[in-house]
Amino acid sequence: MTEITVIRDVETIVAYDPDGDRQVYLHGGDVAFDETGLICVGTRFEGQATTELSGKARMVMPGLIDIHCHSHDEPMAKSIFEDVGTAALWGQAMYEYSGVIDGGEDARAACLTVMLGDLMRSGATTILDIAGANDIWLDIAAQSGARAYLAPGFRQADWVVSDSHRLDFEWNDKAGRDAFARALDFAERARAHPSGRLDGVISPSQVETCRPDLLVDAAEEARNRSMLITVHTAQTMAEHEELLRRTGLTGVQYLEQLGVLGPDVILGHCIFADHHSWTRQRTRNDLVTLADRGTTVAHCPVTFARSGMALETLGAYRRAGVNVAIGTDSYPFNMLEEMRQALICSRLGGKSVFDINTADIFDAATLAGAKALGRDDIGRLSVGAKADLLVIDLDAPTMRPVYDPLRSLLHCAAERAVERVYVDGRLTVNQGKPTQLDYDGAVREMQALQDWACSRAGTYDPRGRNIDELAPKSLPVLER
Ligand SMILES: [Zn+2]
Repeated sequence: MTEITVIRDVETIVAYDPDGDRQVYLHGGDVAFDETGLICVGTRFEGQATTELSGKARMVMPGLIDIHCHSHDEPMAKSIFEDVGTAALWGQAMYEYSGVIDGGEDARAACLTVMLGDLMRSGATTILDIAGANDIWLDIAAQSGARAYLAPGFRQADWVVSDSHRLDFEWNDKAGRDAFARALDFAERARAHPSGRLDGVISPSQVETCRPDLLVDAAEEARNRSMLITVHTAQTMAEHEELLRRTGLTGVQYLEQLGVLGPDVILGHCIFADHHSWTRQRTRNDLVTLADRGTTVAHCPVTFARSGMALETLGAYRRAGVNVAIGTDSYPFNMLEEMRQALICSRLGGKSVFDINTADIFDAATLAGAKALGRDDIGRLSVGAKADLLVIDLDAPTMRPVYDPLRSLLHCAAERAVERVYVDGRLTVNQGKPTQLDYDGAVREMQALQDWACSRAGTYDPRGRNIDELAPKSLPVLER
């Protein structure tokens, strides 16, 4: 007999209204599901259930879709480089600093475990992770219980900032081609995984670190396999300037010229398009092109806002008809906090409370994410959809008082009110703790890994600076 869970008399259900293709509130009624999907949403469930739970003071809502994150070394980079940047590269820290913290292969499992745990605790049930291909990736992603799109990155050039002001590219075309071949193989293995919850994504890492022929070949191979394509594009001003120098085009124009754009493409970040005030372009075509092609933008506001950069604006992209989904990029891997920041950054950039509203952000993290993945069975609660859902405790102090539960959740409570998370009807987070992962163990392991990586940072820095010089502490240490 299949295991059926029913949540009775739910105070608030966030349900999908197919007539309006929109999310709506329902008050009262049951939510029932098994491993194959949702059986009942908002009506009375008359069948036999193996598990029966009360929906009193609970909100049941669809699981969230994180369209862009990085496991690899990112989770262990926390609290090191938040206050640095390369002034001549528009303040961006990534080129000069991200390569000096290298946890090695031993760090992969802990980093992935912490990232998945943090994302699921904050309501993400589907994630798209871009990282280096690694055997344990499939195992841990499957074990976590999450629905995971794994995107092994490949590229032909490494970034080098040897003098803290000039970005150079060290090309190795053959190594990039070899990594592409391995990525295709890995993506096929992800798709074939017996869990049925994994898939592969074809991911040239950055638009400026791959030759044009590799970008074209990657898109063709992805389309032959009916796989998605994701590539960082228009993510920094340094990249924008480099592409202008090489081609005279913005990142969006360049990919359009190569024939890469389409509804199966997710562009990482896509901030510095031709309308952005920093790029000072004389055209206003990029958002029109993205909307025409049905290409998705993966919007990850937190890591960029930390460096003083913002998309202009999420509300404007949506009004232009661009499908924008939400990603978390790097730590803190908190999906609900990311959504809050997306809303705040959009209103700050648009200088208006009317630039975007709570429902728009919720749509971006659910229906728009599903659209990006080409799916109509996730990001929504409706009979027949996957049983990927969250149970929110309306009695959590951070939620009360509740007039509008999604507003309490997004503007105040975030993961502190996430009580249970289900993916494919299986409980993956209970009382805020991942059930399938050794999350606490991985968090403990992370400290030793970070200490070790910090002690070796100087060996990866072209200028040989040690970690104290690279990342001075936020307060001076008083010697006593
Ligand atoms: Zn990224």
